[in-house]
Amino acid sequence: MPPDPLEVGARVADLLATGRRVSTYKLAVLSALLQHCLEHPTGADAGLWVPIGDLADRVVDLYWPQVRPFAAAGVLRQNSTRGRTILDTVADLRAVAAAAGLSTPAQLRLAHPDVVARARRRTSVTLAQQPLFALQRTGGGAPGTPFLYADGWLSEDVTITALDAHDWSITLHPGIAHALARVSGLLQPVLQQWWVSDLLRLNAADLDAPDLHGFLFGAARTAVARLAPGLTDLQAGRCFYCHRPLGRDVHVDHVLPWSRVAIDGLANLVVADPRCNLAKSASLPAVEHVATALTRTPGDLAEIAGPLRWPVDRDRVVGAATSLYAASPAGTPLWREPGVFDLLPAAGVRLPR
Ligand SMILES: [Zn+2]
Repeated sequence: MPPDPLEVGARVADLLATGRRVSTYKLAVLSALLQHCLEHPTGADAGLWVPIGDLADRVVDLYWPQVRPFAAAGVLRQNSTRGRTILDTVADLRAVAAAAGLSTPAQLRLAHPDVVARARRRTSVTLAQQPLFALQRTGGGAPGTPFLYADGWLSEDVTITALDAHDWSITLHPGIAHALARVSGLLQPVLQQWWVSDLLRLNAADLDAPDLHGFLFGAARTAVARLAPGLTDLQAGRCFYCHRPLGRDVHVDHVLPWSRVAIDGLANLVVADPRCNLAKSASLPAVEHVATALTRTPGDLAEIAGPLRWPVDRDRVVGAATSLYAASPAGTPLWREPGVFDLLPAAGVRLPR
């Protein structure tokens, strides 16, 4: 019997609600795990092999906007311990990116793979020693039950030899990946709220919480804006959704909404007029929109992405779209155009592979 997704979700929520966190690492690694599961749809009782390096990349993506100074409060504290942290690694990577005229971690991965590989290794060790080891043990060192993945080999002083022996990876128990993908939409907003309240506590400052949420988790609008000219050409100057001619105000839109799945790859980006972009907001799009975005000619996307060292990430979009539609009940409204919604059919959807 595969585990019940809601039960898995409740146990995960319970892990995080228990105990006083000394850092936001557990929240980051859990968010990374949810994203990984969304992008790698599996059968209801399948296991899933998860490279820790993949989680490390996602954790870097999460902290990337967060190491900027937040208004007058400056750079926010994300842990209460001393010593070198993942945040320092992210700040170093940002400096390398800035010196090369790049603005996102994905660009840096394509432009300086060697620098990123060293940082990934360092971050992977930290994840193995801290949040991955601690995630399933509740506060106060209680034994806990490793219901997500076997963690007997992880510890605060896990060695490189042990990591090598486990191929720098964890394996989710049968059914866990499927369950996490199903409850990701429920858990992510809760997790972000915990993150905000942890930072309010760790920084003991008068931070403005509504602003803080956008600062921590908002999409990087200025970075994606540079793709607008290429996408506008590709769409012959028309809005992706309603096909009307674009005016001066062109919005780069995430087809699968950023708030549901943080994919900035070109396969998930289109240009739209403000009317469609604002109306669509965080809705799941009509299947046809995703299908149209995925059937764009790879060569055309590569031509836009290549010079900007921007990833395309088509496989990630296919995986995430498959999971998002599968996790939504029949009858869920899917945004087609302003004021018009399709209903998700009971038979599910077919996406281009
Ligand atoms: Zn439009």
